[in-house]
Amino acid sequence: CGIVGYAGTSSQVADHSALDVLIEGLRRLEYRGYDSAGVAVVADGAIHSRKKAGKLVNLENEIAESPLPKSMTGIGHTRWATHGGPSDSNAHPHLADGGKLAMIHNGIIENFAGIKAGLVAEGVEFLSDTDTEVAAALLGKLYSTEAEGNLTYAMQLAVQQLEGAFTLLAVHQDHPGVVVAARRNSPLVLGLGEGENFLGSDVSGFIDFTRRAVELGQDQIVTITPDSHSITDFDGNPAEGKEFTVDWDAAS
Ligand code: GLU
Repeated sequence: CGIVGYAGTSSQVADHSALDVLIEGLRRLEYRGYDSAGVAVVADGAIHSRKKAGKLVNLENEIAESPLPKSMTGIGHTRWATHGGPSDSNAHPHLADGGKLAMIHNGIIENFAGIKAGLVAEGVEFLSDTDTEVAAALLGKLYSTEAEGNLTYAMQLAVQQLEGAFTLLAVHQDHPGVVVAARRNSPLVLGLGEGENFLGSDVSGFIDFTRRAVELGQDQIVTITPDSHSITDFDGNPAEGKEFTVDWDAAS
């Protein structure tokens, strides 16, 4: 339901970690309603994820009990369950590629059942009842096969197979500093900072950090790093979003 992504550098002026940005963004997105929350960060060559059913405070308590390593790359999600009831295991992020990749998702993958059956037949095991975990597993498989470790290309190949409405964000432990996102029939906005870039399901996800935003168009993929962003269509052709300045007052 709510999505935040972040790629930054620790040397920047504003000294916040990925976790600070993700929690603040998810708090801003709470107004949309949700039943679970979760985050994943990339640190020390690994994915570290925490997720909990219930309010954001449950996730924050979980992180207080089981702290995350400091990281400058991550994704955060608040879930409104459509496939699989609200539970810790159905909460996002969902992991794939042996825990090396984490994905979050807004929307519904209409054709998840057929893709899941194919992956199960290949021996993939699923830990949740969500449509999202199927997209994560598909991305993980394509990443390590056809895409040969190219995360953006793997996302391109994955979304070509997906039907429905989705905003997807993914991080991989082999790519610290990179978040890849795709959207179809579901919103995604890019936030441009100095030495850091943001993604949000709407501008509330990063309004505390930057007012420079780019609205992604239909069927686009965007890859962010701390100092770059690149947008393509689902076939990999260069594309552009619509840049704008957020001028509303977000004080609250
Ligand atoms: N369909 C996904 C799920 O049920 C995502 C729901 C959402 O948009 O939060 O997990």
